[in-house]
Parts: sequence; C-alpha cells; structure tokens
Amino acid sequence: MSKRRLSDRQKGRIQSIQEQRRERAIAKNAVSEDDLANHSTLGPEILGTVVTNFGAQVDIEAAETDIKGRIVRCHMRANLDSLVTGDQVIWRFAEPHGVVVARQARRSELLRPDIYGKLRPVVANVDLIAIVFSAKPDAFSNLLDRYLVASEAQNIKPVLILNKVDMLKNNAFPDINKLVKEYEFIGYDVLQVSATSGEGITELQDYLTGQTAIFVGQSGVGKSSLINHLQPDANMSVGELSIGKEKGTHTTTVSRLFHLSGGGVLIDSPGIREFALTHLTKEQVINGFIDFRPYLGHCKFRDCNHNKDLGCSLLTAVAEKKVLATRLHNYRQILLSQESDRT
Ligand code: GDP
Ligand code: ZN
Repeated sequence: MSKRRLSDRQKGRIQSIQEQRRERAIAKNAVSEDDLANHSTLGPEILGTVVTNFGAQVDIEAAETDIKGRIVRCHMRANLDSLVTGDQVIWRFAEPHGVVVARQARRSELLRPDIYGKLRPVVANVDLIAIVFSAKPDAFSNLLDRYLVASEAQNIKPVLILNKVDMLKNNAFPDINKLVKEYEFIGYDVLQVSATSGEGITELQDYLTGQTAIFVGQSGVGKSSLINHLQPDANMSVGELSIGKEKGTHTTTVSRLFHLSGGGVLIDSPGIREFALTHLTKEQVINGFIDFRPYLGHCKFRDCNHNKDLGCSLLTAVAEKKVLATRLHNYRQILLSQESDRT
C-alpha cells in the first residue's frame, strides 16, 4: 500500500474521532424541547445571522429588536440542521447563552469536499465571490478560470479584483493589462484597486454595498490587506490568512462574518480560499465557461469533445476569435486535472 493511502486512512480515522467528539459536544450542549419550554428567561423568537460556528456553540448577530447588531453566544436546539457562517436563523436571547431554534432556507451555499470526498457546506448566503489577483505573485488565466468555474457551478456571482495596481506604472506588467481586457471581453466585472495606495477602494466599497461577499485568491495577492482597508476593525494581520493551509492538512479553520464600513458584509473563510473542482461534472465545468455557452449544443456531433474541427461549433468560435483560445486550453486543463485528481 502506498504511503499516501496510508496517511489518508490515518487522516480519515482522526477526522472520524474528531467528528464523533464534535457530535457528542453538540449533543451535550443541545437544548431539548423540555428545556426550551421551561426556560423562563429566554426572550421571544427573533432573526439573526451566524457569525461564527464553534461546533457546539455559535455566535449569532441579532438582526432585530433593541439588541440588533449585538453578537451573542448561543446553544442549539436539539436536532437543528447544521449551521455554517452566514446562515440566517431564528433564535431566542438569554444571558449568558441564547438558543438557536431554527434555520432559514439558504439562498446559496459554498460547498467543499471533506476528506471522504463528501460535499459539505462551509458558508451560506454568499452573493459575491471576489477573486483577487495581482501582478506579483503572477496572475495566471488558468487559476482565474478555476475560481470562475467554481463560482459559476455554485451559482454565485464572481467579480475579479486586480489588486496592487500601484505596481503597474509605466506599463511594468503588460501581460496583466491584457488579462484584464480579456476578462472584460468575456463579460466579467474587473475592479482595479490598491490596498497600498487606496486607489479604487471607494469603488470596491460601492460594489460590495448590500452584498455578502467572500474573498478568494492565491496567497500573497493582498486579500488580508484589502479586508483591513475595507474594515479597519477586522484586525487581521497581513499574512495571517495563509497560516495552516498546506494541501491535505486538516486544520481547524473558523469562518467569520463581519460588516464593512461601506455597508457590505464580508465572510472570511480560510477553508474556502481555494476551491476544489474534482467533484464537478463535465457539464458543470463547461458551463462554468460562460463564453462557451452560446456555442454549446451546436456541434455536428452531440457527444462532441470539442477536440477536433469536424463540425465543432466551439472550435469555429475560437478560430473566429469569438472565444479566446486560452479559455479552451484552460477548460481542457481542468478536465485533465480532474482525471488526475481522481486516480
Ligand atoms: P494575502 O495572502 O492574499 O492575504 O496577502 P497579504 O494581504 O498578506 O499581502 C501580501 C503582500 O502583498 C504583503 O507584503 C502586502 O504588504 C503586499 N500588498 C498587499 N496589497 C498591496 C498593494 O496594493 N500594493 C503593493 N505594492 N503591495 C501590496
Ligand atoms: Zn464541439
């Protein structure tokens, strides 16, 4: 048996022990129906938002009444659906702990496969995935496309944010300007900002107003710097986001929700900064390339792999420069990477 398989099994065993512990802790803390009925100090049912989930307890931000905006640590009613950061809930206030009694339907979920490959929601009710990139570390279209495909597959609107524009003076990085033009051509919004000089930050704040956003992007592109700029109270040290996210390690990463000074809501989730695409179907991958959509279903052969010219509508579109050749290349790379991930 290979080393890797053995370590996966070990990891699986450790995780299952951790899960059992977590479930026991939740069960121990859960509030039964009797407790709920007899709890004279519980306030009326009000709306709230899950700010952080600690497993057995959650922090809830009150969405109404005179305690609106206050964050209260809560226990959960027994048999409540599992909660993630961003969930809207109905809960009852009490000191020192309130009780969450119900979860509202989710308008979106960000899923991530656990160690067994089972998809689990990590955060809920995100409206916008802000994909941050920069000239240094280099931006690659295949990485951007992976984020875009993941966003499209989860039906959450992506926006591209080019940070560090202060570095682009005197056409220092011509490739990055080309990249921006290409993604604007496809139809994506591209915001250009600098966490250092403050350029474009007001526009970014305006863009995020009224939205719940999550920032993703490779390490070093300036996500924590931008978050600090958008919310001076976030108190996130630069570089902190990259701690403990080496591939394959099981880290306890806590997602957190907070308000931005410009009126938006941001969820910071270390666990979701990189998306896995392994679980996506071939159809989800190709539909994730929004510029391909007008050409799909028009190839001569129904099962066309878009590899040969013979009546392929997508290849014709590439030849006619209606679709960028790099996009088709990146599409194929994603399919190949999925195959190698599965073996
Ligand atoms: P993260 O890993 O994506 O969270 O990136 P960080 O916020 O930790 O930033 C990585 C590095 O890029 C730090 O050294 C920052 O000072 C630097 N940085 C962040 N934003 C900018 C920017 O707008 N311009 C320049 N020149 N550097 C920046
Ligand atoms: Zn085709």
